[in-house]
Parts: sequence; C-alpha cells; structure tokens
Amino acid sequence: MNSALLPAYARIPLAFERGEGAWLISSSGERYLDFGAGIAVASLGYGHPHLLAALEEQGAKLWHASNLFQIPQAERLAQRLTGASFADFAFFTNSGAEAIEAAIKTARKYHSSSGRPERYRIITFTGAFHGRTLAALAAGGNPKHLDGFGPRVDGFDTVPFDDIQSAESAIGSQTAAILVEPIQGEGGIRVPSPGFLKALRELCDRHGLLLIADEVQTGLGRTGRLFAYELFGAAPDIMAIAKGLGGGFPIGAILATRESARGMTPGTHGTTFGGNPLAASVANAVLDIVLAQGFVERVALLGHELKARLARLKERREAILEIRGEGLMLGIALNVPVDDFAAAARAEGLIVIPAAGNVARLLPPLTIREDEIAEAVSRLDRACHRAELARPPVLQPKEHGGAS
Ligand SMILES: *Cc1c(COP(=O)(O)O)cnc(C)c1O
Repeated sequence: MNSALLPAYARIPLAFERGEGAWLISSSGERYLDFGAGIAVASLGYGHPHLLAALEEQGAKLWHASNLFQIPQAERLAQRLTGASFADFAFFTNSGAEAIEAAIKTARKYHSSSGRPERYRIITFTGAFHGRTLAALAAGGNPKHLDGFGPRVDGFDTVPFDDIQSAESAIGSQTAAILVEPIQGEGGIRVPSPGFLKALRELCDRHGLLLIADEVQTGLGRTGRLFAYELFGAAPDIMAIAKGLGGGFPIGAILATRESARGMTPGTHGTTFGGNPLAASVANAVLDIVLAQGFVERVALLGHELKARLARLKERREAILEIRGEGLMLGIALNVPVDDFAAAARAEGLIVIPAAGNVARLLPPLTIREDEIAEAVSRLDRACHRAELARPPVLQPKEHGGAS
C-alpha cells in the first residue's frame, strides 16, 4: 500500500472498523476476539455504554480548558486515584512516556530541592520498556531503540532485572531513584521473584532514594490488583500510569507522595493537554467501573481461570514453553516464532500481542466473559497447531530482545 504514514511501524495489513465488547470487526467484516486490547488500553472493551455516555456528556459541554484554570474533572480524578493508592498528588499527561518523564523530573527535583542536586542518576533494569521519548529510551536502555538517535540521555544505570545485589552495587553518591516495572510487559511478561520489589523498597529507604514504579501497563486492575505493587507488598514513592486509565482515550498520570513531590512547585512542570476536561471525564467513567466493588477481584479470578486453561494447553502443545504473568496480563513463551504464532492466531480470529523473548502477550479487556476466555483458549489451541505445522519447534527463547 502507498502510505503517507511514516513507516516507523511494520503494520499488519488489517484495519478495524468497529468494536463490540471484546470483539473487533475488520473493514471486511471479519470478527476477531481481541486479547490485545490495543496493548492493554481498551480495558473495558469497545463501545462500553458508560464510557460513551461520559464522552458524549462532557463532549457537548467543554473539551479543553487549559491548566491555567481549575479543572474540576481532573480534581475529582486526582482525588480518586490518590484515595485508592499510596499517593497524595496526581499530575496528568497524555501518554505513558510523558508520565515517565514527569516521574524522572519529580525524582530529580526532590533531591535538588533538598540540597542534593548531584543526585540525578536513576537505576533501571534490563528488559525494561518506558516509552519512546529521549529520556524514556535512555531509561529503557534497549540498544535497538537507542541506535542512531545521538548520545543516550545521561543519568541512567542499567542493571539485571530481578537481581537485588546488582541494584545495590549500582547505588552511588549521585543516585536519585530506582525505576522499575513491577512486571515487565514489553520485555516479555517477566515477573520478578516475590521479594524483589520489597527489597528495592528497602534499598531506597536505606539509601534515601525514591522508588518509581512504571505501572503504565500493569496499572488500573490489569494484574488482578488495582496496582501491581500491591501484589508485592511494597508501595513506590512515584508511579506512572497510562494505558488502561482512559479506556482508549489518551491520558496518563504520575501519582506521587507529598514528600517525593516537594520540589514540584508552580512553574516546574507543565502540559497543554494533560488532564483536560474530556480526558478526565472519560477516565472518571473508567474508574466508576474499575473501582466498583468486586471488579478487580473478578479480574484476578478470570486470570486464574485463563492461566489454568493455558497450563493445560501447554501440556498438549509443543509450541508452548511456559505460561507466566498475573491477572489478565499473561505471557505465553513460545517454541515457534512469535510473529508466526500471532499470525496463526489471527487466522483463527484471535488477536495476541508479541513481546520480547519470543512471548505472546494476552491482554484482553478486563470485562472479558468466561465463555470468551474458553473460546480464546480453543483458538489458541488451533493457532498452536497451525504454527507447529508451519514450522516445527526448534527455537529456544531468548532472554530478552526488543519487540516494541
Ligand atoms: C506502553 C508503555 C510505556 C509507554 O507508553 P506510551 O503511552 O506509549 O508513551 C511506558 N512504560 C510501560 C511499562 C509501557 O508498557
């Protein structure tokens, strides 16, 4: 196709016209069961009446105001997010990468405003993904993403994921913070050992560092908890969220404690669009559902159900090496090339998302039904069959590469 879109993506030749719940309908009328949710974004599926009503109601009143003025919808959203988490403050952005930037700035400013301007370095982890802006790329440290874009932004020290000794050894007199995804998403649904996050929390406390959690993918119920840090019993000082927050409307945020945000006084940071009335109204509608009694618990139960079914599938299918993840953020480590597998799944009418390490990610809408989970697993079974026939299993999984 002769496209005027910058060819920064190798796009699959498939376009969607409509969505209904967990289903996407292509422009040629085929129905796909969507276990990608636009990469963990459409957390309430497509065409949710409550989100649509919020969008239409606010859309008729006021879309944009500017952060020069009060924005009651953003005030309410901030109250609810801080009320449901460790945090005291929220700052709204338009994307995950911008939330990461805000988190990095907040951590650096905390130290400089406390008389320690030399503390600006941030410890990060191999296999991480934090977004595509220059500092987020530097934090992610993926050589493929950094190549050709000039010097890597200074101030990031990358150590092996899930290795607490290496993290401790990397702490120096210039260290400001540790930045970590509680579960790595793009890196291949890598779940650290149970004590890792808590050990990072303790390191931060011992050395006067801030702990920054990147919950852009894991946040807002995805892992069967409202936030993934709850799984590990260790709260961060600053957290970035985005993907599921707007249910498909672009909005992100940082959440921060009063102490960690002490440097962020008027004029230190800003955004034209972030947290505008329309975005905040839609996100409030998402929270109406995600914060409702029993919603996140249901995600956990469905996650167990899906994982158990996948474990049984693994017993029968050579294409599957390992099932991992939490809640409705699951990964299938494959013995066949993940791109072939994703194509085989599409041929069976199922969308899955490739991740590094030859892993297929399953990130269905959190509103997925039990019968749809069963349907997805039988489609995965058929996709395994196709992929096994097409290419006998020979590949061994890589530790981590760079899929995104
Ligand atoms: C997607 C993602 C980002 C980047 O979000 P964008 O909205 O694409 O900028 C950052 N961190 C994690 C963990 C992500 O999954």
